[in-house]
Amino acid sequence: MTVQSVLDEVRERPGSGEVIPVIDPATEEQITEFKDAGPEAVDEAVAAAKATAASGVWSGMPDYSRAKVLWRVADLIDENADVLSELESLNAGIPRSQAKVITAVGSEWFRYYAGWCTKVDGIARSVNTGGLTGIESHMHAYTLREPYDVVGLIFPWNGPIFNYCAKLAPALAAGCSTVVKPAEETPLSALVLDRILSEAGVPDGVANLVNGFGHTAGAAITAHPDVDKVAFTGSTEVGREIVHASASSNLNKVTLELGGKSPVLIFDDANLDLAIATAAFGCFLHSGQVCMLGSRIFVQRSIYERVVDGIATVANNLQLGGPDEEGSMIGPLISQKQLTRVMGYLEQGRAEGVELVTGGHRLDRKGYFVHPTVATKIDPSTSRLFKEEIFGPIVTVLPFDDEDEAITLANDTEYGLAGTIWTESLGRAHRVAKRLKAGTVGLNCQLQFDHSMPFGGFKQSGWGYEAGKAGIDTYLQSKTVWAQM
Ligand code: ADP
Repeated sequence: MTVQSVLDEVRERPGSGEVIPVIDPATEEQITEFKDAGPEAVDEAVAAAKATAASGVWSGMPDYSRAKVLWRVADLIDENADVLSELESLNAGIPRSQAKVITAVGSEWFRYYAGWCTKVDGIARSVNTGGLTGIESHMHAYTLREPYDVVGLIFPWNGPIFNYCAKLAPALAAGCSTVVKPAEETPLSALVLDRILSEAGVPDGVANLVNGFGHTAGAAITAHPDVDKVAFTGSTEVGREIVHASASSNLNKVTLELGGKSPVLIFDDANLDLAIATAAFGCFLHSGQVCMLGSRIFVQRSIYERVVDGIATVANNLQLGGPDEEGSMIGPLISQKQLTRVMGYLEQGRAEGVELVTGGHRLDRKGYFVHPTVATKIDPSTSRLFKEEIFGPIVTVLPFDDEDEAITLANDTEYGLAGTIWTESLGRAHRVAKRLKAGTVGLNCQLQFDHSMPFGGFKQSGWGYEAGKAGIDTYLQSKTVWAQM
């Protein structure tokens, strides 16, 4: 497939709903368009998934064969890396070098979960029990780990290839049949990945791609009575809607990977050069549109000015630009909607009396580019800039006096996705890691994430875990079988 063939193909896909334009966020130009699938297409996709689940064509395939198919998917992603990364850059505004990394990470998720196909097992026990009958006898008991039949996979625009692979790889490894909905802003790379699945040998009807808006196609999936489980990545607000949809339909199981407002704590004994460079990159990467970025930085008072200056200097030196512009490190925001949202927060910050040390404006050029912004003089008890997930290149930097105050400030959020601690004290690093209310903590490192380690949010950052063994468990249910001996 070529970029042009994907742009043409998405236009031709069937759908009964509104026509949705696809915009290049670096130029604001429309590059193609597609039709919202509409509820009928979701019904069809769910029916196809249900039929394949019932036939056992995928769940009943020998596990080593399923593993081979998934390994082949990974190889085909690598073989198509150029077109995939070009689409990722074009559609999501991600610099080309970063898009290539994301694509390579995606194929590794398939290799990792290919390995899990042959390693799913349960437990077995001999038990003397009468259960509720009270008549004790010798029982053999064991557990079967069984895939959900139909799983809805819904994900956002901020890293479409990665999000696709991180959901599909474990769901398919578990043996589930799926209905897959990318974000309406970024439908392109999923088309290539969908083709790759077929070419690798995933049977028709096992991974059913639907395109459309969240409130139409997404909502139709989450409320569908034949969808047994929904795995979602996106905003906390939509996560809440998905829980409501489950509660008012068939109580389908829900896994949620939601928002964050992650703290970075920099103590006065930290390796400051490294901490400043990493913290600055760790809040402005992808224009702040990554859930686990460190958007609230807390700095011990004695080094506060130095860190603020350091981060502002990095912010001013980060080159923004289109994916293929020479030296571009940061791309645009995804859409006009997101730009309006981020500019609204900047206005709000000014109204709150926040000081914008640098940034605070969009770039004077085409594309949804906003200058990386460092905000200080914030009242943490009232500031919306401090409390709410913005998903833009805005970081708040606040001082603290001691460890207890740092932890209180860090935990003063409804989110709990990630946190980072910069200190050369071994004891303090582990002590503070234990007290942070977050699903992932980096000690003298940030943005660490790998397919082999569980990832999930505390508090309103999510339900359940992805990646690692926990990532495949998400798509399996456990059945306990009792055998009278
Ligand atoms: P973001 O804030 O990152 O744009 P959203 O949470 O709005 O993310 O969207 C993430 C994904 O959820 C997208 O694929 C979107 O279409 C979908 N979505 C949005 N609203 C709903 C909904 N009510 N039900 C199901 N999916 C939805």
